Amino acid sequence: MKYWVAIPAAGQGQRLGSPIPKQYLELAGRTVIEWALLPFLLDARCQGIAVAVAAADSRWHAVRERIGARFIHAQGGAERSDSVAAALDALARHGADPAECVLVHDAARPCLTQAELDALLLAAAGHDAGALLALPLADTLKREQRAGGSPRVAATEPRDGLWRALTPQAFPFRIALEAYRNGVEGGFEGTDDASFVRRLGGRVVWAPGSRWNFKVTYPEDLAIAQAVLTGNEPCA
Ligand code: C5P
Repeated sequence: MKYWVAIPAAGQGQRLGSPIPKQYLELAGRTVIEWALLPFLLDARCQGIAVAVAAADSRWHAVRERIGARFIHAQGGAERSDSVAAALDALARHGADPAECVLVHDAARPCLTQAELDALLLAAAGHDAGALLALPLADTLKREQRAGGSPRVAATEPRDGLWRALTPQAFPFRIALEAYRNGVEGGFEGTDDASFVRRLGGRVVWAPGSRWNFKVTYPEDLAIAQAVLTGNEPCA
């Protein structure tokens, strides 16, 4: 199945506490975003990649030069959803076929495997509205009580049937474009792509993802990603 890719890469990564946005941090000899792009750059089914970077970004140019591939440029926005919408619009201007598939993948997820990518494309091919990679929740869920002082447990939430949404998420391009245009216009604040598609009634399915396909968010995540990418998976 041929597909296009939209990469939101305009975040500042504030939770990581680094002055360098997390997608540009060094990881096993490359930057985080280079690792995130690699599975698509190596895949002949990938027709083109739109990368949405911040207006004030000063690092993407050098990374792009080092990779030496062509990318479709988009200017990211204030929220992830604005950046994805901009990348999808850039793909449309580039001439991406609405009948083909688009994958949305976070620039901050460096450990996607070819096996997960294949599983996702297989699931998306069999369903009208697309598919996402997801992982069942393993831990017990607690809701906090928001009162002054130390956080307290207010309740234990049932976790049956709850999954964590990962990326990539794959949709027919026509559906993703409509869902994002409509969602952004309507002020919808979804934090993943399937929620935009679901809002318009699309029934998205999931394929099981890997727990190593996590989003670099906190400082210790870099050491874990390094171990995964160099074949020393912690606790494997
Ligand atoms: O901040 P968060 O971890 O949710 O970011 C997920 C992905 O969305 C990252 O690749 C980040 O660069 C991107 N993002 C974006 N534009 C924003 C915020 C986040 O492209 N305004």
